[in-house]
Amino acid sequence: MAGKVGAIFLDRDGVINQNRVDHVKNWDEFEFVPGALDSIRALTETGLPIFVVTNQAVVNRGQLSAAALEDIHSRMLAEIERAGGCVTKVYYCPHDNHEGCACRKPEPGMLLQAAREYNLDLRQSYIVGDAWTDVAAGVAVQTHGILVLSGRGRWNFVPSWNRFGLEFSAACDLEDAVLMIKESLRGNPMPSTARLRGAFHMALHPETSLVL
Ligand SMILES: [Mg+2]
Ligand SMILES: [Zn+2]
Repeated sequence: MAGKVGAIFLDRDGVINQNRVDHVKNWDEFEFVPGALDSIRALTETGLPIFVVTNQAVVNRGQLSAAALEDIHSRMLAEIERAGGCVTKVYYCPHDNHEGCACRKPEPGMLLQAAREYNLDLRQSYIVGDAWTDVAAGVAVQTHGILVLSGRGRWNFVPSWNRFGLEFSAACDLEDAVLMIKESLRGNPMPSTARLRGAFHMALHPETSLVL
């Protein structure tokens, strides 16, 4: 384990840029989530390498060429750099569900590939995403999952809770996730979903909720 460092994995759609029902097919359709660039700069300041891990089945469905996708990513990285942030590498899975690959999240293949290429300790790493499949990819390799409630996150909280219970954290958005990661790097425990469960309980049963 000596010499290995942790990393921060970021899902792309719904975390860095806004989801589109018809998918982001060119740079004109790529719209940063408010605050995402500042958040990536703040994550860069932690000194941990940052990787983007994104499912892009649009490639093998023939809606977007690999070259066009890579063009979007190089422009995205340029904007991140201009804002003072640094992403070490973007990994994408081009496969569709039925192909049964090892890289499409919820599979952890992209995390494992990054760990091999950059000598990472996945157990000291974090993955931030807006889908239960992002959390699942993390849980599979003992990387701490943080579900953001931006993007599709609000519809993914219950599926994540049903699958992973207290094994993941929930954050309002990437900015909130950054605060959690910084606290964790200071040696404080990651806030578990118990915090949100308590809030839900209070909303549903105010008469039995005491101090949260
Ligand atoms: Mg997403
Ligand atoms: Zn794949």
